[in-house]
Amino acid sequence: MTEPLLRVENLVKHFAIKGGVFAREVERVHAVDNVSFELRAGETLGVVGESGCGKSTTGRCILRLIEPTSGTVWFEGKNVTQLGKDELRALCRDMQIIFQDPYASLNPRMTVGAIIGEALTIHKLTKTKEEYEGRIAELLRTVGLNPDYMTRYPHEFSGGQRQRIGIARALAVSPKLIVCDEPVSALDVSIQAQVINLLEDLQQQFSLTYIFIAHDLSVVEHISTRVAVMYLGRIVEIATAKDLYTNPLHPYTEALLSAVPIPDPEVKRKRIMLQGDVPSPIRPPSGCHFHTRCPIRQLPLCSTEKPELKQTSSGHWVSCHLRG
Ligand code: SF4
Repeated sequence: MTEPLLRVENLVKHFAIKGGVFAREVERVHAVDNVSFELRAGETLGVVGESGCGKSTTGRCILRLIEPTSGTVWFEGKNVTQLGKDELRALCRDMQIIFQDPYASLNPRMTVGAIIGEALTIHKLTKTKEEYEGRIAELLRTVGLNPDYMTRYPHEFSGGQRQRIGIARALAVSPKLIVCDEPVSALDVSIQAQVINLLEDLQQQFSLTYIFIAHDLSVVEHISTRVAVMYLGRIVEIATAKDLYTNPLHPYTEALLSAVPIPDPEVKRKRIMLQGDVPSPIRPPSGCHFHTRCPIRQLPLCSTEKPELKQTSSGHWVSCHLRG
């Protein structure tokens, strides 16, 4: 077995909420709560969960766009969490991000060429103007856009085209890992499929590794090698995509999966409606965070004891007292 490209160990991120005259910390948002996983080169890890479950914060902590509270991130054997500013900038060539909102993530005052070329300049990747423009044209072609678009501005493009520009920007530095942070959530369903297909093609072409964040399981089904399901800052289940979709173990995964439409009209799946909303990450429920909504909970066990993430079969991990 080769060494993983990325290893995340006990990642924690708390955000302080300050208040009062002295702006002291009054509460804490427990956004990411002890998350660990590994990722091998060429894999796609789908990360799924409702809004506020910590999936985007996890992705951003890995890239150090947000500083983690504790925990360690290893990339190719380097401890990312301890890198200084210069080393971190060098590492940005290997790890990139595609943002959710193609409308907000592109500077409206910059041309498409300048947006894509910014990283080429920062990392001194081209020597002449011809080389610089040639590389931008090549990147635009790679994502299915006309190279002549480099002189235009983001507002002249549709949502799908803007997301392609965001992808070209991420590819400019030839990264190894890309965190795709809900890259299709803001797009129409027909465009979503095109962008996912493009990401799959690029993965093959450039041997990319992805963390693909989404809020529902249907989006990540085809692109993921493995899938991690998060609930209130914790990974509650992680397995190969095939295993997770055919044999979900955690009741939360079952509920998410019951909402995924099945293309065959003959096959009926009973929808599991969870009661209540996701509790606040400021004061997450004790024991198993999911116990306030779990249809099979056993009290007081589930409200007092935190279930560990345990391996049930090769590569299938679940955090549940009754299913582990
Ligand atoms: Fe439900 Fe208890 Fe399992 Fe949590 S530990 S998912 S509350 S059965």
